[in-house]
Amino acid sequence: MYLKTLLNLVHPVKGFVYTKPTLFPDAHHPNGFRVEVAMRARTGSRGICSGCGQRGGTYDTQPVRYFDFPPLWGLAVVLAYAMRRINCPRCGVKVEQVPWIEPGSKSHMTLAYEGFLARWAKCLSWKQVADAFWVKWDTVYRAVESSVSYGLQHRELGSVTAVGIDEVAHGKGHNYLTLVYQLNGNCRRLLHVTQGRTARSLLGFFRMLKRSGVDARASIRYVCTDMWQPYLKVIAKKLPSALHILDRFHIVANANKAVDEIRAAEAKQLKAEGYEPVLHQTRWCLLKRKPNLTQKQRARLKDLLQYQLKTTRAYLKVQALHLLWNYTSPTWAGKHLDAWCRDVMRSRLEPLKKLARSLRKHRQLILNWFEAKKQYSSGIVEGMNANVKLGYKRAYGFRTFEAAQVALYHQLGQLPERPTTHRFY
Ligand SMILES: [Zn+2]
Repeated sequence: MYLKTLLNLVHPVKGFVYTKPTLFPDAHHPNGFRVEVAMRARTGSRGICSGCGQRGGTYDTQPVRYFDFPPLWGLAVVLAYAMRRINCPRCGVKVEQVPWIEPGSKSHMTLAYEGFLARWAKCLSWKQVADAFWVKWDTVYRAVESSVSYGLQHRELGSVTAVGIDEVAHGKGHNYLTLVYQLNGNCRRLLHVTQGRTARSLLGFFRMLKRSGVDARASIRYVCTDMWQPYLKVIAKKLPSALHILDRFHIVANANKAVDEIRAAEAKQLKAEGYEPVLHQTRWCLLKRKPNLTQKQRARLKDLLQYQLKTTRAYLKVQALHLLWNYTSPTWAGKHLDAWCRDVMRSRLEPLKKLARSLRKHRQLILNWFEAKKQYSSGIVEGMNANVKLGYKRAYGFRTFEAAQVALYHQLGQLPERPTTHRFY
């Protein structure tokens, strides 16, 4: 069997034929070789004008160009082709458009190779992909970018009925990204990423929907956010009839933050007063959910709860707050929430009091969780899961916002891929 036969099987190109492949020694490629496959236009075929997409006669032929193709057995494969210039009746003399690269692109990567690298970049870091295939980091970036840009143009947005909005810190200092997810049922995907966490950052999402011809008011029925004021304002304005939910995930995160603040302050105080370090290494005992504690942490917690400390009082109050989500009726959940807030407001635990005040302010949005649960049993109410959080991590390392954005869409966007005749990976 010839290499040509394989190429025609995995990568047939209409209007073009593969000619004899040649093996060249080449120190720039893995194992010191490259396989060069010369291509030519099928005899008598007319090239396609890159300006208008119409076929036209050949004006002249440009010097040979090389296009990287997925490697074979650790050997680099390169397609070599001399582009024709087309004498187009409409556009004048134009370079032809070839099917193995994006129309109008000056890329030296075939779409097959772009897709190949982009797929690998879902499993490995971009640096690892670059190292594995002897390419530059930039090459991997461009491959992923091109595949993301195709995906964003071809994704379907009409089915979005529930969204979650979240902000994450990005890079050093107080830089944030606003992320919008689709949360209907089992479909969780990243829909939008913008810089910052202002009202404007979130408005970008609604602009994007409008551009894609989606009427947000008509289609989005549930929206899930944290207690960030600019988001709350935008939601009230843009989605007045959707059920707006403050989800459990963010409330618990805030409660844990309050406990941690109290613990840190108390530990410092005890140390200053010369007491034994009872709070030493208790952070995770206090912040982890009980079923997730290790044997050792469980014993440590039990021990700790015997002391009369601000920290233990705060811990027990947060445990009581957790019970809120065992309710199914919004009315009873409301009573529990009110009682909890009253109790906390009587305490001298300032960070928890601050939380209680904000929970009171957003009481209705918190209780909407129970309304949504009744009508919309799964998915949305669980908030952002840990897997999604892990997905950001890969993007954190990128210095520029653009690269982080591309990486996030690629990892979490569930974007459609270009249709191909063959899966190289
Ligand atoms: Zn033309």
